Amino acid sequence: SATPATLSAISNGAKNGILFKGGAAMEALSTMDTLFSDKTGTLTFGEFQVIDHEINEADLKEVVYMEQSSTHPIAEAITMSFADLPLDTVDTSESIEEVAGVGIQKGDILVGKPSSFDSYEDPNNYRAQTKQSHTVIFAGRNNQIIGYFVLADQVRLEAKEAVAAFQEEGVDVQLITGDNEQVARAVAKEVNIVHYQASCLPEDKIRLVQEEQEHDKVVGMIGDGINDAPALANADIGIAMGSGSSVAMESADVVVVQNDLAKLYYSFELSEKLNKIIK
Ligand code: ADP
Ligand code: MG
Repeated sequence: SATPATLSAISNGAKNGILFKGGAAMEALSTMDTLFSDKTGTLTFGEFQVIDHEINEADLKEVVYMEQSSTHPIAEAITMSFADLPLDTVDTSESIEEVAGVGIQKGDILVGKPSSFDSYEDPNNYRAQTKQSHTVIFAGRNNQIIGYFVLADQVRLEAKEAVAAFQEEGVDVQLITGDNEQVARAVAKEVNIVHYQASCLPEDKIRLVQEEQEHDKVVGMIGDGINDAPALANADIGIAMGSGSSVAMESADVVVVQNDLAKLYYSFELSEKLNKIIK
C-alpha cells in the first residue's frame, strides 16, 4: 500500500488537476524514459473548424448523418458546421460502423483519412502549401472519391512548454498519430518533437509502446481517443486527457483533468521529490 508521502503527493497532484489512480503511477512518473504523445486532442485542442469542402449536397447529407454517430473531434466539427442542413434524403435504414483510426462507414460510403482509399490522392492537392497542419478528410463511394473536407486544429498553448520541460529532464518525447505524414511533421515541428510516427493504427501505437519496453525503457503514453486506449493500457504509465473518451480514461493510470500538460509536468516534479523521500 502507498506510503504517507505518496498519498500526500497524490493529493497535491489532485489539487492541481492531475488524478492518479494509485501510488504506483505517482512513483513511476518521474522514472519515465519515453513519453509517446497522441496528436489530436492531446497536443492540439482537437477542436476542428471546417475551412474548406467540396461535395454534392445529397452526399454531404450522407456524410453529416454518418458523422452524427461518431464522437471523433473531426465528426463533431463536420456535424456542427452543417447543423442546419435537413437530412431528408438520407437512407437511415443502413447501419453505420466506426472504424477506429480510419473513419466511418455506411454501406458503400466511407468518410475518413485519405490513405484509406485505393484511389489515393495526395491530400496536399487539397490544402494550401503553407497550411501543412490542416487535416484533409475524403468521402468516397466504392473507393471513388466523391468529396473532401479541410479542417484546421490548433496546438495547445501549454503543449510546447510541457514538451520542452520533459525533454530537459531527459524524457524522449515522441509524437504518434493516426493522421498523415504532413500533419504529423508540421505539428511535431511546432512543438519541437524530433521523433514522430504518422498513420498509426491503434495496434501500431501498442507495438511502439512494447518495442520501447523491450529496450528496458519506462514508457509513458498520453492520449485521448478510443484509438489510444489499448496503448494506454499497455504503457507503464498511461495518461488520459480529461476531455478524452471515457474508455481512454478507464484505461489510464493518470487523468489530466483540465487537459493542461503543464500540470502533468508539475506532477512529474512531485514524483521526483517523492522518490527522493521514499527511496
Ligand atoms: P489521432 O491519432 O490524430 O488522434 P485517430 O487515430 O483518432 O487520430 O484518427 C486517425 C485519422 O482517421 C484521423 O486523422 C482522420 O483522418 C480519420 N478519422 C477517424 N475518425 C474519423 C471520423 N469519424 N470521420 C472522419 N475521419 C476520421
Ligand atoms: Mg486523439
